[in-house]
Amino acid sequence: MAQAPVRVLVVGASVAGLALARALRLAGLRPVVVEKLAPSVVAGAGIFLPGNAIRALRDLGLDNPLRPLGAVIRRQRYFDSAGDPLCGVDLEQLWHGVGECRALPRADLHRVLLTGAGGEVRHNTEVCDLEMDDETTKVAFGDGSYAEYDLVVGADGRRSTVRRLAGLGGAAHPVGTIAYRSVITGGPQIDEWTALLGQRSGIVLMPMGYGRLYCYADEPLPTGSTPPADPLARVREIFGGYGGPVPAVLDAMEGVQVAVTDEVEVPSWSRGAVVLVGDAAHATSPTLSQGAAMAFEDALVLAEMLRTRPSVAEALVGYESRRRPRTQWVLDRTRDRDRTRDVAPGLRDPQLRDKGARIFQEHYRLLTDPA
Ligand SMILES: Cc1cc2nc3c(=O)[nH]c(=O)nc-3n(C[C@H](O)[C@H](O)[C@H](O)COP(=O)(O)OP(=O)(O)OC[C@H]3O[C@@H](n4cnc5c(N)ncnc54)[C@H](O)[C@@H]3O)c2cc1C
Repeated sequence: MAQAPVRVLVVGASVAGLALARALRLAGLRPVVVEKLAPSVVAGAGIFLPGNAIRALRDLGLDNPLRPLGAVIRRQRYFDSAGDPLCGVDLEQLWHGVGECRALPRADLHRVLLTGAGGEVRHNTEVCDLEMDDETTKVAFGDGSYAEYDLVVGADGRRSTVRRLAGLGGAAHPVGTIAYRSVITGGPQIDEWTALLGQRSGIVLMPMGYGRLYCYADEPLPTGSTPPADPLARVREIFGGYGGPVPAVLDAMEGVQVAVTDEVEVPSWSRGAVVLVGDAAHATSPTLSQGAAMAFEDALVLAEMLRTRPSVAEALVGYESRRRPRTQWVLDRTRDRDRTRDVAPGLRDPQLRDKGARIFQEHYRLLTDPA
């Protein structure tokens, strides 16, 4: 870049912000990263990283520190709610030549990204206001201080403040489901990614090594309803009649986190010297587990554009035009998959037995290609 942006602010030190900080440093930039939460607050539960997420971490030089963490997932197995087999996906074949799939505690991923980001991350620092012109942005922080930047990156998640302040789109849209997450130890031994699909609800179990099991479950949340006050009791109620390993999992379950799932679809990801990455730009419901992968790929592409394009404005155009088709694919396939919730098990299950593996693999087809 003829005129490199010397003053880059990354807002949000989670998956997207920390990966971007790493990518920018590798590109020779020195971003400032701010995070409104304290360093002790780390997202809980687990995360599943498909092959393209691991490939992106390799490109960020972070695959080695990740290797001892969590467990490699080689196969996904789908069952009906009674525990009878429906279909299976061979992940080693699907992601061959791309990267292995891994399930690990979120806190472990966070630690790797935080170390990889290098430099200082200013915690307890919230962005509250932006004053924008075409080339610079003045940022107001929660402590009353101000600073000016040549580029402000909103990596501040699906409910992004930067997106709202920059006029890049409104609130995230609820997709009508609610997700429950829990990490259990001392439960049944499960060696493969295992999903049991019921009537509009499902539960996924993944080994994370050392006897830990990451449990993700969801159910519909009708418009206007609020999340249950006692999520553990609710999970036991919904999945109490399921078969296979579920009764033993429910027995071992102690704490449950709850999240209303929503998506973000905005007409543009940048305005002036402000740009969005990760969930702030394109959140989807977590059905395909592509949130982290898309955030890592955003980071790599944005850093490459800033390094190679002649101006920030051209870099932002290049970034969005390269990333849009891929994130749109993920959004469209996620919606396709989520629509199958409305199909009664009596109709759905014979189809899954017959061609489930092909259907599920097809959802990742474009994503095995480089970002
Ligand atoms: C239930 C559930 C399960 C999921 N499972 C998976 C999975 O298995 N695999 C996967 O790849 N993805 C999964 N996802 C998606 C994944 O969690 C997200 O895509 C990913 O966290 C997005 O990262 P992000 O950095 O863009 O946003 P976030 O992780 O939301 O981080 C945003 C950060 O910005 C900070 N922030 C917000 N506002 C401000 C402000 N004004 N000033 C300063 N800081 C601010 C926040 O505190 C936060 O740390 C799941 C999502 C959900 C809801």
